[in-house]
Amino acid sequence: MPMYLVEHQHTDATCPAQTPENAKMMESLVLSTERQRQCGVKLVEDCKVKGEHRLLILLDASDRGNVEKYAEPFKMVGPTEVRDLTTCSEFLQNVLSGEVKGCR
Ligand SMILES: [Zn+2]
Repeated sequence: MPMYLVEHQHTDATCPAQTPENAKMMESLVLSTERQRQCGVKLVEDCKVKGEHRLLILLDASDRGNVEKYAEPFKMVGPTEVRDLTTCSEFLQNVLSGEVKGCR
């Protein structure tokens, strides 16, 4: 299944972790299994960079559109990007077989 990374960041001014109510909303947007089911994504790993307003959320999804849907509400508080991922081993296999050259 294709993997995606949702990169999100916000500022002091828009930080949802400043009140328990907003943190609860953020929790349901990021972690809720019901929401993952509705969007058609599966959370693999959710990371927050310590000391920064920055989240890195690793997801499995059959379609990029599902991940876009999952990430949409995060845009209300700050820039949010969806990145297409592969594994290092899959990428290196493609390099070694001559299919690709370089990381781009
Ligand atoms: Zn924050």
